[in-house]
Amino acid sequence: MSIQRPKGTQDIIPGTIEKWQFLEEQIRKICSEYGYKEIRTPVFEATELFQRGVGETTDIVNKEMYTFMDKGQRSITLRPEGTASVCRAYTENKLYALQQPVKMYYLGPMFRYEKSQAGRFRQFHQFGAEVLGGEDPLVDAEIICLIWDFFGRIGLKGLVVEINSVGCPTCRAEHRIRLQEFLQECKDDLCPDCQNRFTKNPMRILDCKNSSCQKLTENAPTTLDTLCVDCAEHFAKTQEYLKIAGIAYRINPRMVRGLDYYQKTAFEVTAEGIGAQNAICGGGRYDGLVQEIGGPATPGIGFAMGLERILSVMEKQSVEMLPEVEAPVVIAALGEAARQEGFRLLGDLRQAGLPAVMDLLGKGLKGQLKYADREQARYVLILGDDELSRKMVIVRDMRLGEQQEIPLDQIKAFLLNHTKCEM
Ligand SMILES: [Zn+2]
Ligand SMILES: [Zn+2]
Repeated sequence: MSIQRPKGTQDIIPGTIEKWQFLEEQIRKICSEYGYKEIRTPVFEATELFQRGVGETTDIVNKEMYTFMDKGQRSITLRPEGTASVCRAYTENKLYALQQPVKMYYLGPMFRYEKSQAGRFRQFHQFGAEVLGGEDPLVDAEIICLIWDFFGRIGLKGLVVEINSVGCPTCRAEHRIRLQEFLQECKDDLCPDCQNRFTKNPMRILDCKNSSCQKLTENAPTTLDTLCVDCAEHFAKTQEYLKIAGIAYRINPRMVRGLDYYQKTAFEVTAEGIGAQNAICGGGRYDGLVQEIGGPATPGIGFAMGLERILSVMEKQSVEMLPEVEAPVVIAALGEAARQEGFRLLGDLRQAGLPAVMDLLGKGLKGQLKYADREQARYVLILGDDELSRKMVIVRDMRLGEQQEIPLDQIKAFLLNHTKCEM
């Protein structure tokens, strides 16, 4: 029996990896343009970090974490998301002593023990960003701009930015009372999940996906109805800045996002034509989180998106991905002496920055030309005993289907000239 990869994981192999690399390049490029620096945190952390930083009542912590005892009897968890780790690193490395706010992004694998189904992976990849130490609504607007800009650049269509304000602990307490009052009558008709939420976290009933719950709560008070002056002003300012940036957003008072520590701005980006689960990016402000995990009181905001999901939306929307791959030069050498000369030349070309490969299996000319074809070579250099004795090489231009002889000592200059002009 051959060994297979664990359920819910995938191998990203040549042919597919190019799409990932394209996406990752776009991410790094836009983040650097927006002044976000990369942060890399460990893929495993103390379990307590996620219990406190994600919340003990969430599905992530309750059902989906990869948790184990290590050999030193410490409870370790493979990170299920990125925000808690970034907040921990901000505190542990005293990044609060730097100029604020600190703008960071991350890119890497996350782990959740999810039911295996199409499009769900137990090891999946996220791109996320966090801004710590800035409470101004301009921070909220800028991070939404980054997301919007990113999706535009990679060519996604039919996107909508939805925003909401979930208020702060002060105005949320008021909302909770009003909402529970409203729900009192229909409480027993809610789905079992929502009946549970009624005392634990009634706000979450507002974004229940169950259609009968949605109907029952159609006229329920939303957090926008009870915003305090501070929260209302923050929300208005955020929208003002989004308008300046030209982002067509939609207010969705029922979008509350799962996590307890979200405050004020919450947002999601949804895409058309990809089915019911149409959110492709979500985030929000979490002003209490850094303190929750033991750091100084620090405002924060962030988002995350799953790369598997983004790639599948790109596929569904038939977005062309044209990674810039430089076509290699292929050396076809016949006979041992030519092979040695070809091998030497290979090194020369690579030193000059030209991608170059040669057959490694000792094939005949026909096989080597077929190999060049598969490698999508722009030029093939054919080198046999005859050419070698005259210190010449045959250059075949694969696109034009023409060939000519060039002195061996001029081949590098010739290729540099021809390939660089085309770029
Ligand atoms: Zn408030
Ligand atoms: Zn429900």
